[in-house]
Amino acid sequence: MITKETKEKILETALIDEVVGDFVLLKKRGSNLLGLCPFHNEKTPSFTVSPAKGFFKCFGCGKAGDSVTFIMEHEHITFPESLRYLANKYHIEIEETAPTPEILEEQSIRESLFIVSAFAQRFYTEQLWQSESGKAIGLSYFRERGFTDDIINKFQLGYAPDQWTSLGTAALGAGYKMEFLEKTGLIINQDGKQYDRFRGRVLFPIHNVTGRTVGFGARILKADPKSPKFLNSP
Ligand SMILES: [Zn+2]
Repeated sequence: MITKETKEKILETALIDEVVGDFVLLKKRGSNLLGLCPFHNEKTPSFTVSPAKGFFKCFGCGKAGDSVTFIMEHEHITFPESLRYLANKYHIEIEETAPTPEILEEQSIRESLFIVSAFAQRFYTEQLWQSESGKAIGLSYFRERGFTDDIINKFQLGYAPDQWTSLGTAALGAGYKMEFLEKTGLIINQDGKQYDRFRGRVLFPIHNVTGRTVGFGARILKADPKSPKFLNSP
């Protein structure tokens, strides 16, 4: 666990206007800063940052907090991960004590979810570049839309074959546990029958600030009035 002293040092050092300013364009208004809220859609800025108080508040959606909560909410990461992000940004050395068994258990589940998500990303990317349907349907779709191969590679785009269990079969074959695949939502379990959430879609991995895959957005490529055009993993 990160020590109390390190937490305090991070909170004292992290400047809210700098932390938020990495993600939101802020303009000075009196002693505060104002910008468009990153947590809800708005055209008139109601997102306020107070450097003096070390606090942000949105008068549109009500979201408020300090530097640590801003990073947690914005990047969908945990409290300790947010502290680590800020420590890294401000070059603060982290002091830690041994974690409790409960925390270790929680970390290990979370880590497992990251690991299966990374496998899924590699699987979908491989399908895009190497499978016949991936090349014919997915890759040609991206290229038609004007995506260069560099961009397709950079964002780790992928393709989910139009089959019920392609990811599931590959993941189990590679030794990953169904339990974690289901937890990520990439595999759906309906009354004991397991199938892939994404089928016949191009895949856009969603990365957090540390570059790890935390989820996927997917666009359908066949005409199917019963399926949504865009689908996200939970
Ligand atoms: Zn808001």
